Amino acid sequence: MKKRKPIRSADETYLHLNKTENFQTFFRGFIEFLKKKLKSIEEDGSEPYYICGETHQKFNRNWKPFRHLWNYTSKKRLDFYAARDLIEEKIGRELLCECQLMHDEEALRRKQLEAFGVDFGEPGKREIDIVSGFEMTKSDIGIF
Ligand SMILES: [Zn+2]
Repeated sequence: MKKRKPIRSADETYLHLNKTENFQTFFRGFIEFLKKKLKSIEEDGSEPYYICGETHQKFNRNWKPFRHLWNYTSKKRLDFYAARDLIEEKIGRELLCECQLMHDEEALRRKQLEAFGVDFGEPGKREIDIVSGFEMTKSDIGIF
């Protein structure tokens, strides 16, 4: 078995990601990761947007708000909570769910209200959470 790199502590993660260049690499990678993991919704004539497909309410047991960030940070050997805090800090708002990074929620909500019978996803078809095929580059890992 290959030796894994140690997971950075919260402080180390914060210091690492607080460098603009590191954050950009991390964040860009995470967005690409989300594109692969979330449901893509395509409508005629516009860019696809991405949703987790669950209602963002705590009684929805199928909702796993940050499971992809959890997997992504553990792959990158970073502290999940520090990474999430930093993302919120950089984008200037709090997130209920990672999928909020991937669509304009206000616009969507309006659309949903207009349409009423909203489709919140198909429970049988949700993808099982497997992290694979995601390459780490030296610059992603940093100097450890
Ligand atoms: Zn979501």
